[in-house]
Amino acid sequence: MAKLYFYYSAMNAGKSTVLLQTDYNYRERGMATLIYTPSIDDRYERNQVTSRIGLKAAARPFDDGFDFFQDVQREVGANAGMKMCVLVDEAHFLKKQQVEQLCRVADQLGIPVLCYGLRSDFLGEPFEGSQYLLVWADKLVELKTVCHCGKKATMNMRITADGQKVTEGSQIEIGGNDLYISTCRRHFTEPV
Ligand SMILES: [Zn+2]
Repeated sequence: MAKLYFYYSAMNAGKSTVLLQTDYNYRERGMATLIYTPSIDDRYERNQVTSRIGLKAAARPFDDGFDFFQDVQREVGANAGMKMCVLVDEAHFLKKQQVEQLCRVADQLGIPVLCYGLRSDFLGEPFEGSQYLLVWADKLVELKTVCHCGKKATMNMRITADGQKVTEGSQIEIGGNDLYISTCRRHFTEPV
């Protein structure tokens, strides 16, 4: 039976690097991979996943209304007989119904789905996609990174260019001058 995986972490844990390495491994074994990335991510070129260490691969953009089940089913038809695997970058941006569609990709089409994303935003609130992935995934895998104090980082703090913690604003804000750092819970609530 195909499984749905959720690889979650704080920021800067190298999720895209792990995704691209996994993509390489599957392809090396003769499988076809479908990589999806949200179309809201403007940090890099659209239609590709780029990791901070310079790896990249072509990706299919998705927005809120995108139907994963339909898209994967179409690709299955076009690649008859090929083993496939689905990889989702920035999976925290998925909507509830898209997590349901990805479950059906695993259960009805028999295709493994690997999602990579953050658990929470800079206010410590869960992202919609992650909330449902944490409940519906067969396997949860934590990709670890550390806070400046050396403890495991689980939170994402947004800071201004002069180092102040940002405590309001929209969940989806990419680019701009603010930076994100990953911290432990204590340093998220009591920044030093
Ligand atoms: Zn800390």
